[in-house]
Amino acid sequence: MTTTARVSDCGHVNDATPSIASRPVASGWQRMCADCTIDYERKLFAAIPVGGRFTGYVTGTNPRAFTTWPGDRLGTVYFVRRRPTNHPSIGRCVRETVYVVDDEHRHWSGTRFDGYATAGDVITLTRRD
Ligand SMILES: [Zn+2]
Repeated sequence: MTTTARVSDCGHVNDATPSIASRPVASGWQRMCADCTIDYERKLFAAIPVGGRFTGYVTGTNPRAFTTWPGDRLGTVYFVRRRPTNHPSIGRCVRETVYVVDDEHRHWSGTRFDGYATAGDVITLTRRD
């Protein structure tokens, strides 16, 4: 049996399938290795203006981190507010507002409606300052 090396659009050869993912980029979709995905997402994140949004993941515990898709840390979750609520489509649930500070001391927050953010949960944050 022969194995074909996987070459991603970023030009790096990867044998480990999980390290390559298709990412939405300005020109459409590209297959990028994890390192290039981290670079790409870090540049996007750094360029978000006040009021702009960025989708990442809540990972880890105590303190929880806000990360890129491959799990690279972008900021720290410093506060979470939880309130029971009624959502128009999912009904009785918990509205969880997650507050994040990044390494440049910029503040972000975002809301989830499906309960408690645990490892790997996707969330979209809005830059507050
Ligand atoms: Zn790459």
